[in-house]
Amino acid sequence: MQNVYLDYSATTPTDPEVLEAMTPYFTEFFGNPSSIYSLASKSRAAIEKARGQVAAALSAQPEEIFFTSSGTEADNWALKGAFEKLRSKGNHIITTKIEHHAILHTADYLEKTEGASVTALPVDAEGKIRLDDLKAAVTDKTILVSVMFANNEVGTIQPIKAIGEFCREKGILFHTDAVQAAAQVPIDVNELRIDLMSLSAHKMYGPKGTGVFFMRRGVKLENFVHGGGQEKGRRASTENIAGIVGMGFAIEKMKARMPQEKARLTALRDRLIDGVLKAVPHAKLNGARGEERLPNNTNFSFIGIEGETLLLDLDSKGISASTGSACTSGSLDPSHVLMAMGLSHEQAHGSLRMTLGRGTTDEQISYVLDVLPAIVSKRRSMSPLWEDYQKKTGEK
Ligand SMILES: *Cc1c(COP(=O)(O)O)cnc(C)c1O
Repeated sequence: MQNVYLDYSATTPTDPEVLEAMTPYFTEFFGNPSSIYSLASKSRAAIEKARGQVAAALSAQPEEIFFTSSGTEADNWALKGAFEKLRSKGNHIITTKIEHHAILHTADYLEKTEGASVTALPVDAEGKIRLDDLKAAVTDKTILVSVMFANNEVGTIQPIKAIGEFCREKGILFHTDAVQAAAQVPIDVNELRIDLMSLSAHKMYGPKGTGVFFMRRGVKLENFVHGGGQEKGRRASTENIAGIVGMGFAIEKMKARMPQEKARLTALRDRLIDGVLKAVPHAKLNGARGEERLPNNTNFSFIGIEGETLLLDLDSKGISASTGSACTSGSLDPSHVLMAMGLSHEQAHGSLRMTLGRGTTDEQISYVLDVLPAIVSKRRSMSPLWEDYQKKTGEK
């Protein structure tokens, strides 16, 4: 049996070189960067080097980069920080129905407890928002637009530049959750007119527990984490030096490998998509094809079965995948992303996400294509859902 990890959008392994760069900051250069002795200056220098590495990868300025504890914290900072700063000007936030819960639940919180008014834009069948919907949603109370760069379940890439240009023209702040996109596609915050952006190290072969918040120079938000004067007084807490060093190293290395890795993964992705659609009857690809899909994302619906049972069968063959839905324990709700794209409950429940990465090889894709069709057909043969579907449609 092979061991095939196909859940790179959930998290990536820390690159051994990244880990090696981090290690001395646990044991040797452990000084608190706020202290005045020379040991501390080593820590300070390491943080500023990483800040420069992150800025360079995004075509940003170092002073526009703030380190956080996660992508989730950066998303919280964007929404809560903008709302608190600008609530006297307006209380309207525009986002989308397919955001990560770090955005959706934060927007819900602001709406339920702080008096925000939130518009969640719909998406088309491929998971893309329409610019006209955004234009129609703007009011004179709109203070922030938050649209994710690329979706974590179906990999659809949004028209970020057009959104950025529109927001700039209207004088509305534009935030994008680029946690997935930053690991896959080049991002230039100036060209794309991005004002605020969230990143996470563990989605790009860096450590868990480190994120980045890009805040364009001149943009004023309330702080989110209050306390000491770290990060120029904008984000308190003793710096996670090793994590920050890992983030800087990881993004620099990823950017250098990106052109090559993008082409390699796109080819593997398309081989997997074509192979599954050919070998599994009544398989549906969720999301876009080509350049509008993340190079590493595949997401299918297999009508007649439950995605969760597929995951167990795949696991027994050594394959780690996901349903794509944040199926938090106890909740059997189908994916909010697939539902927003207009899938039926049955289709949404039969979803399978396989996301590729550095360790993915041609042989692994062959192996998946070998075992998956038989698993689906076996599960269908035992499934009352599939029987219903056959009766309803006359399919075999
Ligand atoms: C993983 C993810 C997050 C959360 O990042 P963490 O660092 O795990 O908190 C936010 N948004 C998207 C799109 C993600 O995929």
